[in-house]
Amino acid sequence: MSAYVVSRPIWRRFRPRYLARAAAHVRAGGHAAIVLPEERIDLLLSVDEAGKLTELGQWALLSIEQQRFRRVSEGPARGLATARVKRQYEGSVLDWCERDSVHPGTIRALSLDCLACGACCHDANVVLDGDDLARWRGAGRGDLAGRAYVRRARDGKITLRFAASGRCQHLGDDLRCAIYELRPDNCRAFVVGSEACLSAREETLGIRDGAPAEAELDEAEA
Ligand code: SF4
Ligand code: SF4
Repeated sequence: MSAYVVSRPIWRRFRPRYLARAAAHVRAGGHAAIVLPEERIDLLLSVDEAGKLTELGQWALLSIEQQRFRRVSEGPARGLATARVKRQYEGSVLDWCERDSVHPGTIRALSLDCLACGACCHDANVVLDGDDLARWRGAGRGDLAGRAYVRRARDGKITLRFAASGRCQHLGDDLRCAIYELRPDNCRAFVVGSEACLSAREETLGIRDGAPAEAELDEAEA
């Protein structure tokens, strides 16, 4: 099956004095960016009963290279997850809020068809591990670990070698993965509808799930 309907959280930005509204938005399934007076940004995300982030929450943090979060201990957001955004990713978070400003509510049902897309199989950094190499050897496809298909860095890191066009060499013209049953763990782990998925679609296909980015607006107004 290649088509999915994903319920993705809607990003909203709030000033700290509206923290109660932000918490209500998150408890209803959305994601919030709290823009602090000094323009730093704290994320507010929901957690399950075990205190674990939702999958799409985890991928939002991954997209901005944020490994840690903490639980809010008091006030209207008590129990929710929060994390301070690194300076270099503040623009990305504000852009998510801008993109989602055209969508009402807290959650958006989005239909995505991977076989009509293939965006995440372009310009990606697919790191391979021992399990991937063992899977290929076991299937008699040791050639997949050869220089034609992978890069080996001096530090030992092994990654898929993409074509000069930016396309994965295993992506077929029909947008199917030619090694689907043997694909790397990192490809298996990729989540449809995550911020990484939305970003790949925007960068590779120019499909933005919401309001145009500010740069596009500038160009349109020029
Ligand atoms: S970018 Fe998203 S919709 Fe497109 S192929 Fe990848 S997971 Fe599927
Ligand atoms: S190995 Fe397959 S799933 Fe992974 S990037 Fe290449 S085409 Fe996509």
